[in-house]
Amino acid sequence: MGLSRILPRSQPPPEPVAPEPDETDEPEVATQPTSGPRLHAVPSSEVVGDVEEHAMASVIAFANQKGGVAKTTTTLNLGVALKEAGQRVLIIDLDPQGNLTMSQGMNPDVIERSMFDVLVHRVPISDVIHTVEVDIAVASIDLAGAELALSALIGRERALEKALVEVRDKYDYVLLDTPPSLGLLTINAFVAADGVIVPVQCEYLSLRGLVQLENTLAMVRENLNPAVRVQGIVPTMYDGRTLHAREAIEILQENFGDLVFETRIRKTVRYAEAPVKGSSVLRYDPTRPSAQAYRDLAKEVLDGAQAREHA
Ligand code: ADP
Ligand code: MG
Repeated sequence: MGLSRILPRSQPPPEPVAPEPDETDEPEVATQPTSGPRLHAVPSSEVVGDVEEHAMASVIAFANQKGGVAKTTTTLNLGVALKEAGQRVLIIDLDPQGNLTMSQGMNPDVIERSMFDVLVHRVPISDVIHTVEVDIAVASIDLAGAELALSALIGRERALEKALVEVRDKYDYVLLDTPPSLGLLTINAFVAADGVIVPVQCEYLSLRGLVQLENTLAMVRENLNPAVRVQGIVPTMYDGRTLHAREAIEILQENFGDLVFETRIRKTVRYAEAPVKGSSVLRYDPTRPSAQAYRDLAKEVLDGAQAREHA
């Protein structure tokens, strides 16, 4: 099986697979690492090159060209968890399906100005930001035409990066929810992002798509944004009672080592129930393990002062 092909050139040798803790007959309990500091977020005070990045947002794209892997769920709930932890958070809906927008109780069909206008007509992004649980830059159905409209523009891959200049110093984290494709909207996200977090459903078939994603990122690094890297991989819809899910995690860890977050987002219907109420799981069900899992993930993102190069 060819997953090892996705190993980036500079990837360190695979680490031995750590035994899975508490994997026997667990109910819905989120695991959290006890080990030392991990990779992931670029802290806002970190020196990048010779420019001090004080108070500049860390921009993270959530991407996986496969649909239904929890990109939107993770963007929202991690965003809310980061806000709970005291961070200033903006989430941006770049998916024409508008699921992120809907999951904050808004209807993309009736929204007048959206990320479409920001990307195509250069409307200031602050004009399309609504404050709900977190600040959210909304999508509308016309975002579906953005790829085509953008493709005719000079600088089409940099439209989002330019739009974010206005708000980068107003937030600590800007989280980008991307569509299930590697088209121009997702490329815009990769160009604007410091890092990419890849939600991966814990099954073998979803792991294969990582090859293509890594190839696209390599292309973006070469031509448009040398700094962008995979910042972390979040195993989602994890059911530790199945051997298959545990094996999927092992394969991920063999190939990506420390890039795999320790937090597993377990499979539970809570994640589907909350957006129907226009709510994150953290508001819908704040004391449940489903909410705690995203708090654990937020802690990993915040603790991870040193982002490992994945170039
Ligand atoms: P994507 O944005 O990658 O297409 P979504 O976040 O929309 O994926 O999730 C797809 C569906 O799965 C949604 O109905 C969502 O509520 C549900 N879902 C997300 N995370 C989980 C989980 N951990 N367990 C069970 N269902 C989930
Ligand atoms: Mg989605």
